[in-house]
Amino acid sequence: MLDTHPERTIYAVTRLFDGEKTIEENEIVEDSGHFRSVLLAARAATHYKKSPVSQLHLDFVVETRCTLRCRHCNNLMQFYDTSQHKQQTIDELKTYADHLFATIPYVGQICVLGGETLLYPELDQFLDHLVKYRDQYGDAHIFTNGTIQPSQPLLDSLRRNRFLVEISKYDSVPEEKRKAVKASLVENNVNWCETSSPWKANEASTPHHRDEATLQQVFSGCLCGHCRSYYRGELHICPRSAHGTDLGLIEKNEDDFFDLNKEWGHSLTEQALRFLAKPMPSIAACDICNYSYNFTTEVTAGDQIKKD
Ligand code: SF4
Ligand code: SF4
Repeated sequence: MLDTHPERTIYAVTRLFDGEKTIEENEIVEDSGHFRSVLLAARAATHYKKSPVSQLHLDFVVETRCTLRCRHCNNLMQFYDTSQHKQQTIDELKTYADHLFATIPYVGQICVLGGETLLYPELDQFLDHLVKYRDQYGDAHIFTNGTIQPSQPLLDSLRRNRFLVEISKYDSVPEEKRKAVKASLVENNVNWCETSSPWKANEASTPHHRDEATLQQVFSGCLCGHCRSYYRGELHICPRSAHGTDLGLIEKNEDDFFDLNKEWGHSLTEQALRFLAKPMPSIAACDICNYSYNFTTEVTAGDQIKKD
């Protein structure tokens, strides 16, 4: 476990990058978008007295099924067919959480999501397990598309464990459905908010066969920022990488993810932080992605692919 004293933590982070330089002196850090998130994390450590990953935003994927089929789903859920869904058992999810927090000292924001998160049958039990690590994460959110009414055990768990429910507002979902979801959250004293920001187009899933320079352009302009994806015990640079490899749309590149299934624990903390901090020119998934400045346009949130 890394030291939580802010100055010593900063020192530990900079050692991970490049010798004994300070963060401000280390130009490699300043030059890389993905290094920048760790730079911000380290700076935040001076304020929040947390570990170097205090601004790490992590999606914890519990479900790949969804009630919608959004054309521009960044998580590629629209490409899962019935045969490709591999339900994670509650014991598996608990184990993935155990491995995560045995290795990563602190996560700034954890988002439990899918697919449609509320389709996961034992979500209440999973949140109850996650909260055992409450001192190792900051904000805790779960996402829903507002099509499913939360069960009473889930409402109780959300309130008890102080999760913020983020309801996505899509024109394709009737307002009445969202109203009913919101009413039950209010009635049960669960924190919630509604998000309705426009989306960026990201429809493609087939390889573009981009050259290295173009891949680097995509990666450096990535709109995903510091959003990492944790799926089936693998810590990926982004959801496209996690699900693009799961769906077989791209080949797994071992540099693009950190596998907590093989080796995990305190001794791996430094390796995991190195992975999160290492400078990357691009990743394999950037070849099937347009979620980047100059490669995308604004589209309607939640636009649906018509059923066959
Ligand atoms: S509702 Fe969310 S998870 Fe489901 S397809 Fe749309 S964007 Fe993807
Ligand atoms: S595939 Fe590349 S551009 Fe797309 S979200 Fe991931 S890192 Fe960003």
